[in-house]
Amino acid sequence: MQVLVQKYGGSSVADTQKIKAVARRIISAKNSGYHVVAVVSAQGDTTDELVAKAREISSSPSKREMDMLLSTGEQISIALLAMAIAEEGYPVISLTGPQGGICTDALHTRAKILRVDPVRVRKELSDGRIVIVAGFQGINDMGDITTLGRGGSDTTAVALAAALDAKACEIYTDVDGVYTADPRLVSSARKLDEISHGEMLELASLGAAILQPRAVELAAAWGVTIHVRSSFSDSLGTMVIGGDLMEKQRVVSGVTRDLNVVKVMLVDVPDRPGVAHSIFSTLAQKGINVDMIVQTTKQGPVTDLLFSIGQDDYPATKRLIEELAKDLGITQVLFSERLAKVSIVGAGMMSNPGVAATMFGILAEHGINIEVISTSEIKVSCLIEASKVDEAVKAIHDGFRLGEEITA
Ligand code: ASP
Ligand code: MG
Repeated sequence: MQVLVQKYGGSSVADTQKIKAVARRIISAKNSGYHVVAVVSAQGDTTDELVAKAREISSSPSKREMDMLLSTGEQISIALLAMAIAEEGYPVISLTGPQGGICTDALHTRAKILRVDPVRVRKELSDGRIVIVAGFQGINDMGDITTLGRGGSDTTAVALAAALDAKACEIYTDVDGVYTADPRLVSSARKLDEISHGEMLELASLGAAILQPRAVELAAAWGVTIHVRSSFSDSLGTMVIGGDLMEKQRVVSGVTRDLNVVKVMLVDVPDRPGVAHSIFSTLAQKGINVDMIVQTTKQGPVTDLLFSIGQDDYPATKRLIEELAKDLGITQVLFSERLAKVSIVGAGMMSNPGVAATMFGILAEHGINIEVISTSEIKVSCLIEASKVDEAVKAIHDGFRLGEEITA
């Protein structure tokens, strides 16, 4: 029998009625002949509430204890969901991440999955049970509970789908698929029927809060097809697939914004080999994710170095960089939170020149100044004034006519 992995986000299990609805959906998958493994997140805003509770006690709680605390949210949902399924008369068992065989490294609060050892899951499935696994959590080699970073249940689900060689990984959420832009922001945004792993990875990393980027990365590496769909309807969502897309003629697939940007500017950095290495390896060692990096050449033996990070990493980065600046003799360090990132993503960019130029033209028409640009084969990102980012998203969506169905 084939395995189907389903993942239900926090909004899908937010209250008793919703849990019962999820139970029925899982049962119907079971009845259509699958071994079902359901991964669930914490109910509603539980994780945020737990974070807030910890903050009331300490401004810098130990990360190990944070994991101990945050992992409880998912444990509530798995137990309740298993009870709801049992009420309907179906055999079911809930498992924590450690029981589900999710083995991680020791980087608390943002641990990476090293391997999945799903012996217990397999055994329960072959005994005819529906298996409910707590998302977002795992166990390190010391036997301590770890968590996978916010939104980590997606990653749990994809990892299990890969380990169990599942037919697909269905991600149930409160939207019915992946859109050309956030529909709350752009009324003409259109749902995409399918998108490639590469495009989805860019979209997820660039601020479309629909899937955890790491989940997409894993899916791409293991060739797992993800089906993003709504837990409140039966309609098909968006398939996130490997390989080439059918809709080749689509140049730009989506536009995103990211408000979680802190710009760090190092002025007069000594221009000699090893300086960039010592700055960025120091940040990397602390698990700080650096996004855009721009170095500009200047007259004389110095350069200016600019990079961006997320708000969560701001305090730690500030501490580390101010120390480093002293050691390296960097004159000035500036931090700014007034910027945001707008990006376009599309696999078709590779074969269509002039896409970036079109985007810059649209921003110029709206009098929006670009401070930093970065590109990859399939995306273009610009840092602009945060107050203008919503206007930019709408203008770009209109300018590339992303709301219109492609007919070719
Ligand atoms: N409950 C965790 C969070 O809110 C994990 C998840 O939802 O995927 O980030
Ligand atoms: Mg959540």
